[in-house]
Amino acid sequence: MAKISINLATGSLQQEELIVGIDLGTTNSLVAFINPEKQPQAINDTGKGLLVPSVVHFNEHGDAVVGNEAKAFLTTDPANTIFSVKRLLGRSYQDVADHQDLLSYKIIDDNTDALVKIRAANRFYTPVELSAEILKELKHRAEHALKTPVNRAVITVPAYFNDSQRQATRDAGKLAGLDVLRIVNEPTAASLAYGIGLNPQEQKTIAVYDLGGGTFDVSLLSIQNGIFEVLATNGDTFLGGDDFDRAIVDYWIEKNDLDRSVLQEDQVQMQTLRLQAELAKKALSTQNLYNEKAGDIWYSIDRQTFESLISENLERTLNSCRLALSDAGLTAADIDEVILVGGSTRTPYVKRKVEELFGRKPQDHINPDEVVALGAAIQADVLAGNRSDILLLDVTPLSLGIETMGGLMDVIISRNAKIPTKAGRQYTTSVDGQVNMKIAVFQGERDLVQENRKLAEFELKGIPAMPAGLPKIDINFILNADGILTVQAIELRSGVKQEIEVKPSYGLTDDVVEKMLIDSVTHAKEDVQQRMVIEARGEGEQLAYTAERFLEKNSQFLNEEEIEHTRLLIAQLRQSLQTADKDTILKHTDALNEYTRPFAERVMDIAISSAMKGKKIDE
Ligand code: AMP
Repeated sequence: MAKISINLATGSLQQEELIVGIDLGTTNSLVAFINPEKQPQAINDTGKGLLVPSVVHFNEHGDAVVGNEAKAFLTTDPANTIFSVKRLLGRSYQDVADHQDLLSYKIIDDNTDALVKIRAANRFYTPVELSAEILKELKHRAEHALKTPVNRAVITVPAYFNDSQRQATRDAGKLAGLDVLRIVNEPTAASLAYGIGLNPQEQKTIAVYDLGGGTFDVSLLSIQNGIFEVLATNGDTFLGGDDFDRAIVDYWIEKNDLDRSVLQEDQVQMQTLRLQAELAKKALSTQNLYNEKAGDIWYSIDRQTFESLISENLERTLNSCRLALSDAGLTAADIDEVILVGGSTRTPYVKRKVEELFGRKPQDHINPDEVVALGAAIQADVLAGNRSDILLLDVTPLSLGIETMGGLMDVIISRNAKIPTKAGRQYTTSVDGQVNMKIAVFQGERDLVQENRKLAEFELKGIPAMPAGLPKIDINFILNADGILTVQAIELRSGVKQEIEVKPSYGLTDDVVEKMLIDSVTHAKEDVQQRMVIEARGEGEQLAYTAERFLEKNSQFLNEEEIEHTRLLIAQLRQSLQTADKDTILKHTDALNEYTRPFAERVMDIAISSAMKGKKIDE
């Protein structure tokens, strides 16, 4: 059941189709496969290199280029050049608000918990669409280099990614025309690349230390019976090799008595400094001194100085490791293997410090830029059924989930998940005073539930009447070893509970599974697009509703013109909700948001100052 693959040309199932492994990174991405010698290998599309910078540039017509070509626009057209999109995947504006100033492109600030959007070349892009551009480029390079269609992939994500970030990664894959067989944790992939965890008899606890260009994380994993369990993760999503470069730049500015304010204006000079700093840092990984002249300036630094410049940042990463150990209830002595991932672990000082902390030499012989993609390729090979040495656990052939807003499928247990398994998610109500909630359980890979198989439906009754968004409803899916699914719904404040049991495999033949999988691949792109329209519409509807209620309650704080204009914007938004064009809906949502945000602040200020006035001061 688990090893179904589809030939898109013939629409039939076939046994041996290539599945690639993809490391979709913050700074660089790459794709790997298992070569005919049965070895994992990163794909180098003739002359283009292994690493594809995760950068997308749009020209004025909205045409995208990806990789080095896009990177060249970072200085010349920063507003339309998107980098670090992985930081935004599955995140809301509130999640990323603090970091907007680090990005040169525009994130739409709707100040809500809705997912972020990015404006470039006068269009709205979701991080899913942008990541899909990167994945399309990787797919294209793999197809070009291997001269075969590539339709299936395993994609890696950081161990700390939550459900919504994982779902966004899956969606990006779908949009790029890839059937994403599994989302794998990056540390798990790195461990597989080192051959750790491939033997089902093996029992180990490992630490994966991943220091890239802009992010750091450490994960502790326990491996037992071929199952990887994340015991703890820690890290800093704004710490990496770029900080080392900056430290060298600052050192040179001091040493050469350069004028900081002049440099701030002189992008070219600043860029030269940054590039020289990165060259120096890399050189110091193999030599003791860097001493080069560019223009009239000598760029010089020795290893010892470099180490003292980065020691504070390095100490922060070590502290993260200590915290992870204590969260997992472990000490360094409990760790059987330490694995290094990410380009910055090439710095000898990093290796030394990590070795000191864990008291053992870390594994570093695989290229730290490639190790995650190579491991993903091994996982892909396992899923393809090409490795008889590895135990393939029983898996569920189709995803299981529930219907959410606008008839969308919200997957709770993903296709190919090992069983037995348990997963859950929290929901809330969308209307004030809602006391019942319908829970409809579906099976399948399509984004709209109407295209999937309905397994059951029940109602959670007796939710205490509260404003929309306040009740907390946990929905848990428990799939036991016999394939019986129990769906539980619990309202946490009141404890009201309801549960049903179904057998998802009932009436499910191989033919049905095959048809459902083929349909999901052939309709992937339109499905994701439809999902985006539905999400944009849901968000627009919510805002129009909130704005109307705001007007009802607070019109005394607004003047005639403001009320009129708000009404007009609401009407335009409601009108746009009738269309199927995501960009139009987002444009009107954005306009209403921008216009009304100051009013909300005004009302808040008035409320605060009247509360202050009402306060007794004679105590
Ligand atoms: P990644 O995000 O894993 O691709 O890591 C990229 C980071 O690794 C960048 O900050 C690079 O400057 C850094 N890096 C690449 N090669 C080396 C090297 N030989 N020594 C030290 N840092 C390196």
